[in-house]
Amino acid sequence: MLDTLAIDIQPTTASRLTQLDPANMEFGKLFADHMLSVEYTGGEWQQPRIVPYGPLSISPANSAIHYGQAIFEGMKAYRQADGSVALFRPSANWQRLNASAERMAMPTIPEDVFLHGLRELVKLDAAWVPNVAGSSLYIRPFMFATDGALGVRPSDTYHFGIITCPVAAFFNKPVRVRFEQKYVRAAAGGAGYAKNAGNYGAAMLPSKLAQQDGYHQLIWTDASEHQYVEESGAMNVMFVIDGKVVTPALSTSILDGITRRSVLELARGWGLTVEERRVSSREIIEALQAGRLTEAFGVGTAATIAPIATMGYEGQDHDLPALSDTSFARRVGAALDAIRTGQAADPHGWMVAV
Ligand code: PMP
Repeated sequence: MLDTLAIDIQPTTASRLTQLDPANMEFGKLFADHMLSVEYTGGEWQQPRIVPYGPLSISPANSAIHYGQAIFEGMKAYRQADGSVALFRPSANWQRLNASAERMAMPTIPEDVFLHGLRELVKLDAAWVPNVAGSSLYIRPFMFATDGALGVRPSDTYHFGIITCPVAAFFNKPVRVRFEQKYVRAAAGGAGYAKNAGNYGAAMLPSKLAQQDGYHQLIWTDASEHQYVEESGAMNVMFVIDGKVVTPALSTSILDGITRRSVLELARGWGLTVEERRVSSREIIEALQAGRLTEAFGVGTAATIAPIATMGYEGQDHDLPALSDTSFARRVGAALDAIRTGQAADPHGWMVAV
């Protein structure tokens, strides 16, 4: 029986920490010194290793490259008010990674391999967790097929890894979005609820076309009617209508966002009415025109809250009122940040010390 708590740790002899400039952090470019690596062979996960960050070697016939068995997660570790480091809801990411794995016919990861490996990695690279307001250590767990053989079938072997990179505070400038009415991100019964790489690859062209038309991102609509709102870019989307928090109900075509879940739990705790249901683009535009829709925003790990300034619908732009300090989006963003940095109580037990 494999002892997944006995991680083989090879510390780096050439730390790159001096390259980290907390005043100038560009997302996803500079990675912390170490990475977690675990191989799946012979029907089981092998000894986890923490090794210096560096290239992996793969076969040109690698089945993830050819047939797309590749999944990932996105999460963050935060510097706490007392100087320690804590993770935000890491079990939720572990569970979602396994839901993605099942959808892609990949092996699931035991909780220990994920959570213990993650904590040991972040502990070892704790100096990489920035100490600047709003910043954090972004964590990217990922798994991909490693069979070096062609043939469309699930791979027999896999690699699970975790890499991390420091990220600056996200500047939440309100964005211009367009309801997408031609392309789809995911269809009912597809893999939209999984965080598999192909979902992101297929979203790039429609996003690029929207950018060419002056929008920052899309609001995806359902695959059959192009009427019902799904997500906004790579975030879940929420609206405040008549003072209620309204968001599309989860389905097989929507990713079950951990920020979404957390925002809804906070809203309910504050006594607000939350509606998880079908929301049509027409309803949104009509509510905006009638002055009933006061806020629209994306929610996700990267930005926490991304306020929407303008919505393009059937060739016309519709502007939203500016957010104020009493807006739900601002209040809930601030509340989440305070919990994540240990500046507020954590009644839900979301934070896990490393
Ligand atoms: N939808 C998609 C498609 C995403 O990629 C993400 C980012 N993981 C989200 C929603 C938001 O999820 P979370 O709050 O867990 O980051």
